[in-house]
Amino acid sequence: MHEFPVTEQIIKIAAEQAEKNNALKVTQINLVVGESSGFIGESIQMYFDIISEGTICKGAILKMENVKTKWKCPACDILYSRQPLSFACPNCGMDGLPTEIGREFYVQSIEIET
Ligand SMILES: [Zn+2]
Repeated sequence: MHEFPVTEQIIKIAAEQAEKNNALKVTQINLVVGESSGFIGESIQMYFDIISEGTICKGAILKMENVKTKWKCPACDILYSRQPLSFACPNCGMDGLPTEIGREFYVQSIEIET
């Protein structure tokens, strides 16, 4: 449900950019969605189809680049994806620390037709 306001925001950002560039329409919106961002791609797509109706973004392709969550080992200084039941570093077995990688959520770029 919390995808509704962020989808409105995505459309607003894309529409503003499109208008600045005198676009006729937005053809594609490229999003970066982290695995731990808390946002679900399918929900964004669903709201997008509804909210974009009647806007310059109608019919645009929503392309989502998914970013996998990464953990960092304090001993080895490596980044890794954790296993379902473990936080352990695959190299030394020490529990890793969460990083910002995987929390991303933003509009990377838009493609327009002028
Ligand atoms: Zn380690």
